[in-house]
Amino acid sequence: MIDNTFGINIVPDNDLQRLDALHRYRITDTPSEESFDGIAKLATQIFNVPISLLSLVDAESVFFKANVGMGKAKKANRGHSLCALAVLDKEVTVFEDALKEPCLMANPNVIGDFGVRFYAGAPLITHDGFLIGTLCIIDQKPREFSDADRLILEGLAKTAMDQIELRRSALDKIDEVDSARQQLEVAMQDLAEFNVEMEATNEQLNIANNELNKTYDLTVTLNENLQKSELRLQSFISKAPVAFGILTGREMRIEVANEMILLLWGKTNDVIGKPLAVAHPELEGQPYLSLLDNVFTSGETYIGDTALLKLESEGVLKDHYFDFIYEPLKNEKDETISIIVIANDVTERINKRNALEELNQQLEIALRAGELGSYNLNLKTGAITSSAQCKANYGLSVDHQFDFDDLMEIILPEYRSSLQDKINESLESLSSFHAEYLVRWADGSLHWISASGQPSFDENGEATQMIGVTVDITKRKHYETQKDDFLGIASHELKTPITSLKATLQLLQRLKGQPTHEMIPRLIDQSANSLEKLNKLVDDLLNIHRVTAGQLELTKDWFTVSEMLNSCCDHVRIDGKHELVVKGDLNAKIYADEHRIDQVVVNFVNNAVKYAPHSKVIEMIVEQKEDHVKVIVKDNGDGIDPSVQPYLFDRYYRASHKSQGYSGLGLGLYISSEIIKRHGGEVGVDSNLGQGSSFWFTIPNY
Ligand code: ADP
Repeated sequence: MIDNTFGINIVPDNDLQRLDALHRYRITDTPSEESFDGIAKLATQIFNVPISLLSLVDAESVFFKANVGMGKAKKANRGHSLCALAVLDKEVTVFEDALKEPCLMANPNVIGDFGVRFYAGAPLITHDGFLIGTLCIIDQKPREFSDADRLILEGLAKTAMDQIELRRSALDKIDEVDSARQQLEVAMQDLAEFNVEMEATNEQLNIANNELNKTYDLTVTLNENLQKSELRLQSFISKAPVAFGILTGREMRIEVANEMILLLWGKTNDVIGKPLAVAHPELEGQPYLSLLDNVFTSGETYIGDTALLKLESEGVLKDHYFDFIYEPLKNEKDETISIIVIANDVTERINKRNALEELNQQLEIALRAGELGSYNLNLKTGAITSSAQCKANYGLSVDHQFDFDDLMEIILPEYRSSLQDKINESLESLSSFHAEYLVRWADGSLHWISASGQPSFDENGEATQMIGVTVDITKRKHYETQKDDFLGIASHELKTPITSLKATLQLLQRLKGQPTHEMIPRLIDQSANSLEKLNKLVDDLLNIHRVTAGQLELTKDWFTVSEMLNSCCDHVRIDGKHELVVKGDLNAKIYADEHRIDQVVVNFVNNAVKYAPHSKVIEMIVEQKEDHVKVIVKDNGDGIDPSVQPYLFDRYYRASHKSQGYSGLGLGLYISSEIIKRHGGEVGVDSNLGQGSSFWFTIPNY
């Protein structure tokens, strides 16, 4: 706060700028300096005064940079110090007697103990015209101050101002140097840091360099390896046992084609570089060009399985089968640029497979024709895989699964161990086995099975499976039994008339000398009878031989059936025990071997006489049908059990007539059925127990 004692305004209009100018010199509140002290001292000596001050007028106070004669005072209030007045005027301010100055009447320096009476102050004027302070001289008694004094004081003030300016420029210089030093320090520090960084970088660079060197060596090695492996790949591709090619661009230019693919194509190296369609005009119309085009568009791999390709070789188009792959090769933009073609000629394999399939088919046909069932027995697990026919042989349905244990269950116990023995023997001797055994189907019926098998072994010589066939031989077995029976019966049947003939002939021999002996005619009749029986038996045997040997010759002609029926079987009519009645379409004619048809009818009638002895009437009915003529021989005997009816026409079949003791070879109906079949007709029986039997045959119309 300015305590203005002067009663007038002591703050000039430009005070703010003036203060700015003052502060530029950074001199206020600084310790005293010899140079300024010297000027003040010089002033006291020149003017012979006790006090001289070098003052600087700040905003609120006046600072004494040099003080001679005022004790230790460093500052005074701006409102008290007379210097505040001296900076208002460029000229030297002089109060020769302060007590006479009205503005100083309240100034404590004047009216106080100090008692200032004289004051002269020359302003310190900066180079740009600001009055920042004074060099003043003070006395406690009034004095006079001449113009010369003024000039001297002004001169001293100017010197002081020069000193201040010098000091300032020295300060600025110091500052400059200081800031330069600071900058230098910063720069030095930066440099040091940079140096550290540089060292680190250098080290990294060294490491990188080393790495680079190593990498370079590695690259060289890799490059060499790459070249080697490329060469190897090239030679591998060119010699590979698969066909390999690379087709490039949309037009499928052949870029790479190895020896194998050229061989398959039947082309030479000349095709390399040509578009596929140009190199292979024969591909036109085959699907491969469009398949390749699709791979190009879709970018997806195509896998072809046993595709047929017609390729020209030496001017001939040949069928080839291939497994092949079209693999797209793409660039970094995922666009297809080429297609790798890898093809494997499987023609030989396919041909073999086809041949095998054909063979299998033939085998299957043969198996079917022979009603042979095939099976594969896993000898380790006992599992059996088998054909439908094989299952049928065991009375099992197609979807029935069975294993060896199940099979053993089906086989009758008395055959099991012998079958097992035969299998074991076959495994030991490495040869096939053959066995016949009886099985019981689920429905209880018994069937004869003939089974054969061939074992196979793994690389360690261990038996792995038994593969073979089975066949239902029930009929054959049955037939064999019948044949055995037949031989027994035939020899018995032959022996009876022969024995009887032998006996009658012996008797006749004995009566040789008595030609009129009463026994002779009877004995002759008996011989004739026995001979007739023998003749019939021999006839049957001859017929059966002819039938089985396919030597049954037919001499066909048209004849009226009823006429033939009326003239046949005279022996029955003469015998008189049965009445033969011919009925039906009496005009019906057939084109057949009359003698053989007569034989069939005689057979039917003889059977009726033999097996239905009490049937007085035996009807012979003729039916003219649209496409055939049917002849029925009907008796009123005991009839026949339906369960045996299907077997009546089999060779050697004879129903059991043990109690009645009928004789016969079981051949009559078999021969009859063969005769009818040779005529293209059918034979059969309609009968029920207790309701008689109707044996019939048909002859087709021509
Ligand atoms: P065989 O008379 O020599 O036994 P066949 O072949 O003529 O042989 O006859 C076969 C079987 O058919 C006879 O054993 C008999 O059981 C039966 N059979 C044939 N005809 C008749 C019939 N009319 N009535 C009942 N059974 C008959």
